[in-house]
Amino acid sequence: MYDAIFKLTLPEGATVVGFADDVAVVVSAKYWEEVILIANQAVATVRGWLSSVGLQLADHKTEVLLVTSRKQTESITVSKEAGTIDACTSPEKEERKITTDQWRQQRWETADSGRWTHRLIPYVGKWYDRQHGEVEFYITQLLTGHGCFIAYQYRFKLDYTAECPECQTVEKIAEHVFFTCIRFPAEISELERVCGGRITPENVVSYMLLSDQHWNAVKRFTTVVLKRLREEVLEDVTSMEK
Ligand SMILES: [Zn+2]
Repeated sequence: MYDAIFKLTLPEGATVVGFADDVAVVVSAKYWEEVILIANQAVATVRGWLSSVGLQLADHKTEVLLVTSRKQTESITVSKEAGTIDACTSPEKEERKITTDQWRQQRWETADSGRWTHRLIPYVGKWYDRQHGEVEFYITQLLTGHGCFIAYQYRFKLDYTAECPECQTVEKIAEHVFFTCIRFPAEISELERVCGGRITPENVVSYMLLSDQHWNAVKRFTTVVLKRLREEVLEDVTSMEK
């Protein structure tokens, strides 16, 4: 499901790019009237697809940025009422010249993606430009840590601190589950064999970006760990029902 958004048929000049749970529609055109038209068509398509799968575009979190090399100062904005992209009536005085890379990084620094995701992906340029690696369900769980939180909260009914079944009290759940827990020694050593070194929150994404083989090793590891957590939650539910 996560990939379907990247396969939508959008108007010419529009593409969808994404990382973690953030998505951007990139529109490129010669005239800004065209940019606005294409952007609105593309956003309408994305909005339609989201609602077809029971999701909603968070208009209040949606931002738009015009990157231009033209001397004339123009700007565009997201209309808060209609959720459409409009020409800005009071254009900013300052000419804004930044590279796509800088824009992505600025956007990333201010995104509310959570410190965990930011720790895993401190710089988004390479992440964006990678030629391999599908961000499917389990990889998303690794990047956001949400699945671990939910499993642990559910099992132990505590907020963000919990006892690991094997270890002591755990504070940083996602970090514990994937990087320091002693419960998955075989899986960890297989992953470290492929990567040729110790895996940490700071280097795991760099490894993933090296090659398909590295990406898939991380994906296999993440899948095993999260499936195990899920099984444990189900075991709990079953034993409670008995
Ligand atoms: Zn543990």
